[in-house]
Amino acid sequence: MPDDTQILGHCPDCNERITTAWTLVEYEKDDGTEGVWAECPGCGDVVAPE
Ligand SMILES: [Zn+2]
Repeated sequence: MPDDTQILGHCPDCNERITTAWTLVEYEKDDGTEGVWAECPGCGDVVAPE
């Protein structure tokens, strides 16, 4: 079974582990790096995983 889930980071609010399956938006920051907004499976908020 393919495992296409990668860890984006942890929720800054509840520290839940967030995987790519929860990605909502990917964007490019002003400094050229990639940013991600994701829905936290723990608290349901939209967060920037860290
Ligand atoms: Zn959370």
